[in-house]
Amino acid sequence: MDKKDRSLNFIESIIEEDLKNGLKREDLRFRFPPEPNGYLHIGHIKAICLNFNLGQKYGAAVNLRFDDTNPQNEESKYVTAIKNDVNWLGYSWDKECFASDYFEQLFEWAKYLIDEGLAYVDSQSSEEIAYQKGTPTTPGKNSPYRERSIGESKNIFQEMANGKHPEGTHVLRAKIDMESPNMLLRDPVIYRVLNKSHHRTGNKWRVYPMYDWTHGQSDYLEQITHSLCTLEFKPHRDLYQWFLKSLPIEKRLPEQTEFARLNLSYTVTSKRKLKQLIDLKLVSSWDDPRMPTISGLRRRGYTPEALKNFVNIAGIAKRENIIEASLLEFCARDHLNKIAPRVNAVLNPIKLTIVNYEEGSETLEGEVNPESTINKVREIPFSKHLYIEKEDFREEPNRKFFRLSLGKEVRLKNAYIIRGESVIKDKSGNITEVLCTYDKGSKSGSGSEASKRKVKGTLHWVCRHQAIKVKVNLYDRLFNDPAPDQHENKSFLDFFNPNSLEEIFAFAEPSIQSALPGQLYQFQRLGYFCVDTRSKSGSLVFNRTVGLRDNWPKTKN
Ligand code: ATP
Ligand code: MG
Repeated sequence: MDKKDRSLNFIESIIEEDLKNGLKREDLRFRFPPEPNGYLHIGHIKAICLNFNLGQKYGAAVNLRFDDTNPQNEESKYVTAIKNDVNWLGYSWDKECFASDYFEQLFEWAKYLIDEGLAYVDSQSSEEIAYQKGTPTTPGKNSPYRERSIGESKNIFQEMANGKHPEGTHVLRAKIDMESPNMLLRDPVIYRVLNKSHHRTGNKWRVYPMYDWTHGQSDYLEQITHSLCTLEFKPHRDLYQWFLKSLPIEKRLPEQTEFARLNLSYTVTSKRKLKQLIDLKLVSSWDDPRMPTISGLRRRGYTPEALKNFVNIAGIAKRENIIEASLLEFCARDHLNKIAPRVNAVLNPIKLTIVNYEEGSETLEGEVNPESTINKVREIPFSKHLYIEKEDFREEPNRKFFRLSLGKEVRLKNAYIIRGESVIKDKSGNITEVLCTYDKGSKSGSGSEASKRKVKGTLHWVCRHQAIKVKVNLYDRLFNDPAPDQHENKSFLDFFNPNSLEEIFAFAEPSIQSALPGQLYQFQRLGYFCVDTRSKSGSLVFNRTVGLRDNWPKTKN
């Protein structure tokens, strides 16, 4: 391109260049290639959005390809979960593909390499092979089997496939260059014997192809034009090209381009590490709401819109960096503010009694969502007997405390102005109840002079007799360190935050009685909460998605 178009990310610039150089727009094709060895996490959202957004932008097909070449780690339950997560984000794929669909073709191509003198069976142990590989600064040594005859290699390879040889006895290696400065080109292993059953091919195969031997050829077979992967695959690019150039194929070859992983602070984005948290029972499951998995984020109350906005703001980069968790939280608040209905709930209650209010109750009205253009209201029962948050009352306030104290006025949201009068204490001197009076004329929205009176604080509250008791899970960050897996002498597990979950009971206004799993709310003045997917009506459980404000550093430092 003559002039750099700043509205394009660097991958789009590459595509535009390719289109200028003759690639047909209708031939563009992308893929998202997860290994079904765990649940997808927030890092994958970046790769998903990158590929599917390119598909949308160019009207090109995007395949969902399961990279299933390690039968010991892969399961069909992960395939189901991955499909569910991609769909939930709002994307649909053109073809559902599996690398295992290509096992036959890959096997044929491996035999072709042997025939061409470009691959050989090595019968050394993996330790011997590793030893001969050399180091980045010293060249490797040729295997004593490197010049094995084509016929013998072919025979043994077939026997390996037939199950005649135990694991670890032979491997098939590409014959490239043991002195290459790129270690990956030093005769890489392309097949190994594995006596494992595969989630799709069952016991058909006793040899399984390695990732590198599979990925580029799968891209070719699907005629992917731009194979986008994360930076750690950059050194693999030479090998990717070597394999494709060595094969008897005539169609257009795919091109690999790397982009930076998305790393998020205070968590880990690796399926293997996330699985460890589950195996060690530090979290309950893949969809534990503390997990950075798509399913965990969903259960926590994150929306597809918030997550997609987050990866969009994080951007497509060529260099690794760590994105602040607070940006993710900001994106959640930003979207939930627009869509979440408001309710009152009191998490840490203390009794508040309005001594001059008569027995009995009245029904007040509150806005469902002031951000919405639809002016809906909800009914809220009010009476003499209420709960407010314990921290909203202080017997000895400092000058900056604008909430309730003795002799001071505050407004109860959507209700009246009250004044603190006295407290009742138990034998140990703890306040058990706050007594107040109210200004009868100050009812919100009544239009009276008294209703327009300005007081400094507004508190949320619930009616003691009609409140619903709900369970609330309060989540904190999963790790106590911004980069838990970046410490040289420590495991990420050493930074696990044992206080990442606090379970409490709270009182909520009765309008949430009919709340369904997955439903999102704003608990006024507290934050955003989501009905847990395993919650049942009658015993509601809420997960705190995120607080109303970013107060994390303040409470920690
Ligand atoms: P994990 O270590 O979590 O298993 P992976 O890279 O091995 O990650 P795959 O299932 O092989 O996971 O990844 C599927 C696609 O998602 C790949 O193209 C990979 O590059 C991309 N991807 C994985 N993690 C991230 C991340 N943190 N940021 C961006 N893309 C990612
Ligand atoms: Mg992987």
